[in-house]
Amino acid sequence: MQSTITPLIAGNWKMNGLSASLDEAAALKEALDQQPAACRVALCPPATLIAQMAWRLKGGAVLIGAQDCHAAAEGAYTGSISAAMLKDAGAGLVILGHSERRQGFGETDADVAAKVEAALAAGLEPIVCVGETLEERDAGKAVEVVQRQVSGSLPDSLAGAAFSVAYEPVWAIGTGRTPTLEQIAEVHDAVRATLEQRFGQHGSGIAILYGGSVKPANAAEILKVSNVGGALVGGASLKAQDFLGIIRAL
Ligand code: PGA
Repeated sequence: MQSTITPLIAGNWKMNGLSASLDEAAALKEALDQQPAACRVALCPPATLIAQMAWRLKGGAVLIGAQDCHAAAEGAYTGSISAAMLKDAGAGLVILGHSERRQGFGETDADVAAKVEAALAAGLEPIVCVGETLEERDAGKAVEVVQRQVSGSLPDSLAGAAFSVAYEPVWAIGTGRTPTLEQIAEVHDAVRATLEQRFGQHGSGIAILYGGSVKPANAAEILKVSNVGGALVGGASLKAQDFLGIIRAL
């Protein structure tokens, strides 16, 4: 963990959660009201819950994020949601380029970069996801793939802006499998080098989150790895108790 970086632990609810799930978010808020976290904490619910969650978590420390946005500011894009709409609903952050978007919706690095531009224009802080597939890892290409994704997904307009990068190996997401601590360190160090090359000193202060099967039992050791500045958590963010276990591991 870089001492100069404020870590971020963000929960990605994916397409899970109805109004009743907001009780979990409220329980998280209450726990953090009692005992503040040593990091920034965010929950990224489905877009349908953002406004309600913002209302329930008002005045607390939990930040609210979205899971995607459209690259255009507005217009004829049936079914899509703009960054400004997410901001208006109460979001402060947005996850972009998650592998489930890259793989399931064909999002390219260029698409992600365009969405990052849209997010910045609307005042949202992007969490930009990158990560190799198992085939790429087995072919010894993990670092190369991730560096290429980082370079292609981050537009120049991020210079000086608040954002973070999340390294999420595709094969570790929702599988219970995690890379070794050495593998995590290798990729995070490479992402750091790419960020510094691109953004200079600003790149040294960007939090690089690890994501993929993070749970209370493995969070402490992962969060101690060189250049790991937090976590992006899927399944274990749905229950306040599990998510708190990760937050308290810092
Ligand atoms: P997981 O998901 O923690 O359930 O593996 C992580 C993510 O996809 O962000």
